Amino acid sequence: MTDISVTKVEKLGVIPTDDQLGFGKIFTDHMFVMDYATGKGWHSPRIVPYGDFAFAPATIVFHYGQAIFEGMKAFRAKDNQIAVFRARHYLNRFNRSASHLCIPPIDVEEVRSGLFKLLELDKKWIPGKLGTSLYIRPFIISTDDYIGVKVASTYKLFIILSPVGAYYDNGFNPVSIKVEDKYVRATKGGLGQAKTPANYAMSLNAQAEAHQEGFDQVLWLDAVHRKYVEEVGTMNIFFKIKGEIITPELSGSILGGITRQTVLELAQSWGLKTAERQISIEEVYEAHAKGELEEVFGTGTAAVISPVGELSWKGQKITINNNQTGELSQKLFDYVTGVQYGTVPDEFNWMDHVNSTI
Ligand SMILES: *Cc1c(COP(=O)(O)O)cnc(C)c1O
Repeated sequence: MTDISVTKVEKLGVIPTDDQLGFGKIFTDHMFVMDYATGKGWHSPRIVPYGDFAFAPATIVFHYGQAIFEGMKAFRAKDNQIAVFRARHYLNRFNRSASHLCIPPIDVEEVRSGLFKLLELDKKWIPGKLGTSLYIRPFIISTDDYIGVKVASTYKLFIILSPVGAYYDNGFNPVSIKVEDKYVRATKGGLGQAKTPANYAMSLNAQAEAHQEGFDQVLWLDAVHRKYVEEVGTMNIFFKIKGEIITPELSGSILGGITRQTVLELAQSWGLKTAERQISIEEVYEAHAKGELEEVFGTGTAAVISPVGELSWKGQKITINNNQTGELSQKLFDYVTGVQYGTVPDEFNWMDHVNSTI
């Protein structure tokens, strides 16, 4: 592994107080950067002051979108220990996304070392209040100075860090969801399995229309039959029907969430019945009609668990669990966040410790 050089910022930034944190607007003093060139591989890993970069207007990523990203979190746990939730899992997924976009794979251990060195340097920025965290955003862009369509031969990887406030400041708010029947998110053989900006760009119209109609988010159905449930907004989705926990299988158009995996592992360890399978929106509505739909929730790194209180499909509204957070949703949230903040023992070795205190 190559040495990671460090160039420190001249003047340290002002660390925000916990109540100044929102999401994604404040960044720490430094960032991690690494370059790739064909023939040379990934090289020159370095930590530099957080700041602007200059790119030529012809830089290929601006035109054709060959780019990927990740979203993970570091926590200040008990005793001011710093730990990252399932770091290697996220970085392995980064490589899976890379392969879908023809981006050369990273050395997970090298990037993890770079991240940990960056966290050590900027550790004062990790907020302490329960619910807050340091959001970690690794991303790779193609950087050839060329406006022809091709697989690029040069790339840059960045890791930037952003202290974020509590997702739920006043307890859970179950969300209301529009089942989307006009737009589609992804198709098998497309980019749905990759964490890539294009998937977000194409979700904006649906999201904007749902907001206008008074919904918080959209639930995506499969692109071919407009029948099978895929994801909710930018989260994976779970249904609890007659005690069984069901989530759509990773069939090629769904992003394999780390929180999704965590929930499946946890539910199984609690002896709950789980299934990864196709589930149609009709099946969900029928289960509701029979009084068997117990809970619906989304999973993702930002919210961990997001209870769904209401679904609306072709104008037909159903209310789930009286628009209240379900018992399982609450239990999953409490367990996962408990491990993250160090108040629940880390039985599954989810926390990757930076071996440093603040
Ligand atoms: C990131 C993401 C998720 C959630 O994945 P986590 O690893 O749990 O954060 C779900 N769907 C999409 C489209 C995503 O981009």
